[in-house]
Amino acid sequence: MRIDVVTIFPAFFDVLEVSLMGRARGAGILDVRVHDLRDFTHDRHRTVDDTPYGGGAGMVMKPEPWGEVLDAIASDATSPLHFVFPSPAGRVFSQSTARAWADSGEHFVFGCGRYEGIDERVFAYAATLGTVSLTSLGDYVLNGGEVAAMAMIEAVGRLVPGVVGNPESLVEESHEDGLLEYPSYTKPAAWRGYDVPEVLLSGHHGRVAEWRHDQQVERTRTRRPDLLSD
Ligand code: SAM
Repeated sequence: MRIDVVTIFPAFFDVLEVSLMGRARGAGILDVRVHDLRDFTHDRHRTVDDTPYGGGAGMVMKPEPWGEVLDAIASDATSPLHFVFPSPAGRVFSQSTARAWADSGEHFVFGCGRYEGIDERVFAYAATLGTVSLTSLGDYVLNGGEVAAMAMIEAVGRLVPGVVGNPESLVEESHEDGLLEYPSYTKPAAWRGYDVPEVLLSGHHGRVAEWRHDQQVERTRTRRPDLLSD
């Protein structure tokens, strides 16, 4: 899967060098390329922001560098382009979004906003080059799109075949079947006065599966009743 990222802070994405994502990049399963938006400016100060029309606090990201970087990426597209602009004003990202994007075969481009955000015309222009999604990580405001893009890249990337060693571990996770995952335990069976539930030591697969499902439903009911009401 090809993923391009546009940011004024490329160092945020250095963590993609480590762990499963780093290994997937090394193996060529994920091809992630990070672009510094300032490389697409032409003034001495490498300016990417300006004051908002209509007044108000803060600065807005200028459209020109965005147009240039999007053109450069589009000229090198490997499959249909999908531009994702992290935004607290977007649709909320979820596991089903991650699954759909991982299965799409699209070439993803994450455009990380800073300041008060990106000039609105950039989204209209990007729509002439591919699909555009404004996507929120949740109902709170971050300083920039980098952390949100990282979270989405990891959630999508780990669903790409070959990134996570055992694909079965992906199927049983929280949100894959609309329920939260059941509790997990490992050895020792007794630790500091806390015992592993007896059923998990029974070796009886049917009873274990039933117990796990009951735990999933109970957890979801108490922690996330909103998931059950859909
Ligand atoms: N003025 C914007 C608003 O009220 O919608 C918020 C701008 S925020 C300070 C700067 C950037 O952080 C945004 O352009 C976006 O890229 C990113 N961002 C902030 N919160 C986010 C969230 N919950 N999900 C995704 N991206 C977010």
